[in-house]
Amino acid sequence: MLRLNELRLPLDHAPEALPAAIAQRLKIKPAELLAFEVFKRSYDARRGHPLTLIYTLDITVANEAALLKRMAGDNKIGPSPDTSYHFVGQAPANLQHRPVVVGFGPCGIFAALLLAQMGFNPIVLERGKEVRQRTKDTWGLWRKNVLNPESNVQFGEGGAGTFSDGKLYSQIKDPRHLGRKVLAEFVKAGAPDEILYVSKPHIGTFRLVGMVERMRETITALGGEVRFEQKVTDILIEDGAIRGLVLESGEQLRTDHVVMALGHSARDTFQVLHDRGVFMEAKPFSVGFRIEHPQSLIDQARFGKHAGHPLLGAADYKLVHHASNGRSVYSFCMCPGGTVVAATSEPNRVVTNGMSQYSRNERNANAGIVVGITPDDYPGGVMAGVAFQRELESRAFVLGGGNYEAPGQLVGDFIANRASTQLGSVEPSYKPGVKLGNLDTALPAYAIEAVREALPAFGKQIKGFDMHDAVLTGVETRTSSPLRITRGEDCQSLNVRGLFPAGEGAGYAGGILSAGVDGIKVAEALALSVLKG
Ligand code: FAD
Repeated sequence: MLRLNELRLPLDHAPEALPAAIAQRLKIKPAELLAFEVFKRSYDARRGHPLTLIYTLDITVANEAALLKRMAGDNKIGPSPDTSYHFVGQAPANLQHRPVVVGFGPCGIFAALLLAQMGFNPIVLERGKEVRQRTKDTWGLWRKNVLNPESNVQFGEGGAGTFSDGKLYSQIKDPRHLGRKVLAEFVKAGAPDEILYVSKPHIGTFRLVGMVERMRETITALGGEVRFEQKVTDILIEDGAIRGLVLESGEQLRTDHVVMALGHSARDTFQVLHDRGVFMEAKPFSVGFRIEHPQSLIDQARFGKHAGHPLLGAADYKLVHHASNGRSVYSFCMCPGGTVVAATSEPNRVVTNGMSQYSRNERNANAGIVVGITPDDYPGGVMAGVAFQRELESRAFVLGGGNYEAPGQLVGDFIANRASTQLGSVEPSYKPGVKLGNLDTALPAYAIEAVREALPAFGKQIKGFDMHDAVLTGVETRTSSPLRITRGEDCQSLNVRGLFPAGEGAGYAGGILSAGVDGIKVAEALALSVLKG
């Protein structure tokens, strides 16, 4: 098979124009093109250019060798790379203790799936509930202002990304095409085929719920075991190696291999690991607000006359501004046609994030507008980032009125540093509700100053971004883990053998796809450590 890169066609081309364009590009007769498959489809929506679709294609022709020879100087054509997945080994028959995966978010799911596929019969321990029950608890906060600290947006089957936009792309380097394995498994579990070839795939919340259940069934059918409402409260270490886990029930589970895929919100478990001396480091993360605009404004700014085209869907954006006080402000986890959600896992704290359905057809576009911070901004050691997040989230709870409503402000008022008293044309989507006021004290002064400078600058890139009536809600603090549970080349903790810190909580992923990829890497490393003895 041959790979043809960067074949451009107009947005509204007829289906038969694609094989015709391939034949023309390869200088072959149409009949010589035996088959083709779209490997990737993206678009070029830069202003001042006609909007075009860009295809990467896998192609079968009658005589590949002759074509490759003839097109030898053309760097857009070559043999298709092998993107299929190859297992690193199979479990030995005499494995004494089953490996344990802590956490059933995307990282834990893929670690468990791979271990199960290699015959390791993993046990998964998840502190939250199975996904249907968890959905009810999560809606309890959104609709009735009642938080369940063990079953919410952050904790439970599927992990943090279950109630999300389900964006499935990442900027990680992926020379082994592990992201392809993640996407292929998602398709097997019920995701639409298109996630394999569109450039920015997403699946939305409702589909994710069903997919997560099917992946659990696959793991179980392969000999794995998934246990819910089983919080790990301690770890047992002997002679620098993991020997077991303690559960909240008091049960002790003997094991020599643990994948710790905790997510960025397992603050109590971070503390346990820290107390037990597991090597950890403070790391940079970001804090800020969510912003909401009419989706139509973003579509218009990005796609002009093509706004609303079904192949393009609801438009997204990505923005960065380097503020004069040295801070970087950037858009984070942009959710086209979505809603802002209450994402706290701790009582009396308010955290915002965003989600959407597959259709992305809600009225508003939302995104985090966040400011990068480093451990120098929160001195005090490894756990100081958690304390810093907690302080901002508690402050937001008070500013929001003390009932899980989010504090909010119109963009025009925020820029003018004047409290908002009345909504304008943009109706905020955050449930249980928004309390208008002044966000001036919701973040450290340097962050407020940087966001105030960034919004008008963003308005120059997306016309109307700094519109008066756009709404800010806060606070956005769980952008990534505030710490790293550092591991070596073999993916094991630097000072506890058999402990494999993984995914977003350990500081090795940011997003669903990269967390899934990290789960695969760590499962492979665990398998190899067993096989090498
Ligand atoms: P998590 O998904 O956080 O999973 C960790 C799991 O560990 C949790 O289920 C938790 O309950 C469990 N756990 C924690 N402590 C313990 C313990 N002591 N014992 C047992 N179990 C424990 N990313 C994207 O790529 N695209 C998006 O569109 C997107 N939207 C998002 C929207 C929202 C509202 C949120 C909150 C996040 C979103 N993200 C998105 C980020 C994405 O969800 C995370 O990057 C990803 O889930 C990280 O995966 P993980 O497996 O490392 O951790």
